Amino acid sequence: MNATRSTQDLQAADAAHFLHPFTDFQGLARKGSRIITRADNIYLWDSEGHQILDAMSGLWCVNVGYGQQALVDAAARQMQQLPFYNAFFQTATPPAIELAELLSQVTPPQFQHVFFTGSGSEGNDTVVRMVRRYWQVLGQPQRQVIISRHNAYHGSTMAGASLGGMSGMHEQGGLPIPNIVHIDQPYWVQHGRQMTPAEFGIVAARWLEERILAIGPDKVAAFIGEPVQGAGGVIIPPETYWPEVQRICDKYGILLVSDEVICGFGRTGHWFGCERFGFRPDLMTFAKGVTSGYIPLGGVMVGERVARVLIDQGGEFEHGFTYSGHPVACAVALANIRLIQQQRLVEHVHDDVGPYLAKAFESLAEHALVGTAETCGLMGALLLVKDKATLTPFDPAVSIGMVCRGHCFANGLIMRAVGDRMIIAPPLVITRAQIDEMVALIRRCLDLTLADARSAGWL
Ligand SMILES: *Cc1c(COP(=O)(O)O)cnc(C)c1O
Repeated sequence: MNATRSTQDLQAADAAHFLHPFTDFQGLARKGSRIITRADNIYLWDSEGHQILDAMSGLWCVNVGYGQQALVDAAARQMQQLPFYNAFFQTATPPAIELAELLSQVTPPQFQHVFFTGSGSEGNDTVVRMVRRYWQVLGQPQRQVIISRHNAYHGSTMAGASLGGMSGMHEQGGLPIPNIVHIDQPYWVQHGRQMTPAEFGIVAARWLEERILAIGPDKVAAFIGEPVQGAGGVIIPPETYWPEVQRICDKYGILLVSDEVICGFGRTGHWFGCERFGFRPDLMTFAKGVTSGYIPLGGVMVGERVARVLIDQGGEFEHGFTYSGHPVACAVALANIRLIQQQRLVEHVHDDVGPYLAKAFESLAEHALVGTAETCGLMGALLLVKDKATLTPFDPAVSIGMVCRGHCFANGLIMRAVGDRMIIAPPLVITRAQIDEMVALIRRCLDLTLADARSAGWL
């Protein structure tokens, strides 16, 4: 189909009919979409034949890289054998059962049960339903409040966007829904520069305790956070943050929820981000990397504390989706997780390419535009600043991140801009040589951005 239609023709049809997510419809229609037509390993090709290094793994999800035949075969086999059956009517399919079993093996030991959804957002909706149901079954229905963070991302459904802390999303549609509140994020550059990061981590965690006490501990159901905030700009918390959050949740008996949609399945150099940061969640949302994005799937790992109550005392849990445990999605997830195991991709990130990327980012930190350069496993962020010594930002009107992103696009590199933070999360299969190639492209784009800043007088 693509072969017979020109880029222009596709762009016209796109503009005429396709409303893209998180997009200024009119702006895009005027400019025209970039049409991606194929991919292999860490590279994409557009309809004009340009090769692009995908340093964002699609949308944080293609952990095993593109073109993995084992996942394609798993989908094709399952589609032929049984393309769909549901799990509502006291039925199950082998792939869903086997995936539930395998997930209980690769997740931390407190997780022996899973609830499947179609996406990360539905996973977080399920979290809201489930934590409130848990407290209701325990005879504490007044425990309704879920505490999250500003600048968190937990998806785009009503509950997901409410849990998230994106002000732009809250402004559209009367969000957040009731009983979801937000504390500040553990972002040292924004909130903690008068302290060491270790001191700041404790301070930021104590914001949780202050909020719990302000609300009343008997009204708080759960705290939810991404181990590392992804869409918020790869905000990597100080090492002291999560252990202190854990201590506070334990102290007040509040459920701790880790949104592992990005951090899960090897991204941080551990199977799950909570293992990297040393905390023990009661619930864990996953999606994206569970299938490496080859097909949609999400879910919630339910720790024994919650599972025992729901199973032993809860009766029917009035919640579920048509595609909860979709056999094709589960078959692809099984193939994906087995591939991660066989290729030892978590170890590859932990021992090899993660440290290698960290070193490369140390060298990027010397660039005149870069204020901070941080990585966690295969996530990285460069903060672009006007003055390195003082971390003084550019005038927001300049949109320096968008300028840099424009150069990335033009130079065959997908890197994302979140405000002034340039972020990456490449496929876990990336090699050292490919990291060198990616970093050379990043450096070139930083140089081009710096040249723009100098000639436009932004510095
Ligand atoms: C992407 C994302 C979600 C939402 O997942 P969808 O599959 O887009 O619904 C939730 N939480 C985090 C941390 C995410 O990055």
